[in-house]
Amino acid sequence: MNVRTVEERTNLLEAGRRFGVILEALMAEVKPGVTTGELDASAEKMIRDGGDDPVFKGYTPEGANRPFPAALCISVNDEVVHGIPGARVLKEGDIVSLDLGLSHKGMIVDSAVTVPVGKTDAKSYALMDTTRMALDTAIAAARVGNRIGDISHATEEAYEGSGFSVVRILGGHGVGAQVHEEPFVANVGHPGTGEEIVDGMVLALEPIANAGRAGVHILPDGYTFTTKDGSRSAHFEHTILIEKEGTIVVTKRPSES
Ligand code: MG
Ligand code: MG
Repeated sequence: MNVRTVEERTNLLEAGRRFGVILEALMAEVKPGVTTGELDASAEKMIRDGGDDPVFKGYTPEGANRPFPAALCISVNDEVVHGIPGARVLKEGDIVSLDLGLSHKGMIVDSAVTVPVGKTDAKSYALMDTTRMALDTAIAAARVGNRIGDISHATEEAYEGSGFSVVRILGGHGVGAQVHEEPFVANVGHPGTGEEIVDGMVLALEPIANAGRAGVHILPDGYTFTTKDGSRSAHFEHTILIEKEGTIVVTKRPSES
């Protein structure tokens, strides 16, 4: 677990403000007829134009046999996370998760949203709304004195009675100097367990849930997770800085209240 210095916290917050503007602009570009590759190119350009680095591009996560080839992970419909952008054309009614990372003055932020392409169906809206609310619930549990298991448990509880299934093998993580740091923050768990949350901790919290069953598998491309049953999946993520005075949502977008 890493505790950030005052200077690191300042740079992290600056990174988050830059990031929020970019992700919001990218969300507005999601329309029928746009390809996932075009969205990736746009994300990378916005990050580099600001003098920052797209940290997912060239990053090799544990277990992968090659670096991720893009700035943006784009996962459409039954794709869960880590979809690779390309020639796929977005269609009216799709849901698309945009997961992006940025490095600014040595501090990394990581955040994701799932948005509809045009208008979608009621179940997809409910899946997205529930997952966005699960992220809010997780953030509320992330405070000094609590434990990591309290965040996991709060996330799991946010889905109770929804009919949706939390993906158990994926979850949040420490972030800041590296894309992925300790601790792993599961989206299911028991209160009062795990590492204690202290002032200066930076976490990326990311509930991920499927409209059908929880099972996921990875495609032969080595990156894209999809649901086993073909049901749709949603993913929301924020980077947060936990301080004794309160928890700051670092990657908050301009339009978020
Ligand atoms: Mg992410
Ligand atoms: Mg993440």
